[in-house]
Amino acid sequence: MEKSGNATHLRCDDCGSEFDLRQIVSLCPKCGGLLEVCYDLEGLKKSSHLFSEYVRDSIWRYRDFFPRVQDKNIVSLGEGGTPLVKSVSLGPSLGLDNLYFKNDTLMPTGSFKDRGYSLAISYAKELGVTRGVTYSSGNAGASFSAYSVRGNFPGLVMVDSQASATKKSMIMLYGMNATVLNASNFGQIEALIEKSVTELGCYPFVNFVNPIRHEAMKTFAYEIYSELKRMPDYSFHCVGTGGGLWGTWKGYNELAQMGIADRVPRMAAVQPECVNWLERAIESGADAIAPYGDGTKTIAQSINGNSPLQGGKRLLKAVRDSGGMALSVSDEEIKAAMLDLGHEGIAAEPSSASTVAALKKKAKEGLIRSDDLVVCIITGTALKQPKVVEQIASTPKFEIKADIGELRELLGKLGY
Ligand SMILES: *Cc1c(COP(=O)(O)O)cnc(C)c1O
Ligand SMILES: [Zn+2]
Repeated sequence: MEKSGNATHLRCDDCGSEFDLRQIVSLCPKCGGLLEVCYDLEGLKKSSHLFSEYVRDSIWRYRDFFPRVQDKNIVSLGEGGTPLVKSVSLGPSLGLDNLYFKNDTLMPTGSFKDRGYSLAISYAKELGVTRGVTYSSGNAGASFSAYSVRGNFPGLVMVDSQASATKKSMIMLYGMNATVLNASNFGQIEALIEKSVTELGCYPFVNFVNPIRHEAMKTFAYEIYSELKRMPDYSFHCVGTGGGLWGTWKGYNELAQMGIADRVPRMAAVQPECVNWLERAIESGADAIAPYGDGTKTIAQSINGNSPLQGGKRLLKAVRDSGGMALSVSDEEIKAAMLDLGHEGIAAEPSSASTVAALKKKAKEGLIRSDDLVVCIITGTALKQPKVVEQIASTPKFEIKADIGELRELLGKLGY
């Protein structure tokens, strides 16, 4: 029997018969018992160094690029180090040879927020902060909750009353103190956060208002560059506050300023059509952005804010200085992009899929060259919005009885 790597053969639990590993078998052909793969232990020993060299990747690999945090204050769940997946279907169909998805759906609490909260909570502990608050449309709250509870950090989540039931219950699952926040506009929320700092001495964890959170987003740039050994031509981000885009942009710039990379990518910022304040401001050449739009009109819950922080000046700068673009997409385009990502093996929440929806439009307009290297940051998992998944993915098209004839017919229909 021929070996297959260090595996030697299949062996039946019941009758002990041995079979070649290249044979297509399921149960033991002789007695129907279960088969087990057997190995040559001497051969395996050659790979035993794998057990001593393991390092779990996380954002903390790049801790030299953060403000200092002592080991004892680090609160980590293994955030970061996510896969950069090359497109096998959408890229080719758009004529793009180098389309990649940075898959942050795999983060500990299901969104890229974990990068920011791991660093921000750790740093708050380093500073000796005694209480902190955040406002959340859902994912930030879950992430804040997981990291605060693990780090024994006294925090309170104020979750938007609009957040999905799933997102609200995720916050509670991690054991956090949370309150639903009823506010009629983002201005009220900003004012409340501001007063919580000045009047109550709270440390705020809202993006940008907290000056540390987005530092962790630099790791997107470091990870992407480390893996590709070059800069992307385009970096696509969905934009809520824009902390993700800004932090990544900062990371790319550091790589260029240190002389490690020769240039920076164009930053593409994507919003839902109903709150496309950045696109409007870029088009009109504005210096600052006023609140615009109605965020309740989109399924992209994580990027439905109608009010840019501090006039959105950082975002205008990142897009303009990088020669980038601000784009917007409809819910229908987002849903189609969720299915495209599904066909790539990635289950993304609507906000995350908006990057892919926008890229498709730009590629079809011929704005992106076939050899351009494009990375879409896929920020969060579809499981946070199960209702949308049920709506767009529907149920299986076929239904059969436990009948071999029906199965044969169906396989025939599928051309297998
Ligand atoms: C928070 C969030 C965003 C928006 O991120 P910003 O840094 O606020 O722009 C996008 N996608 C998902 C899944 C999020 O949780
Ligand atoms: Zn100042």
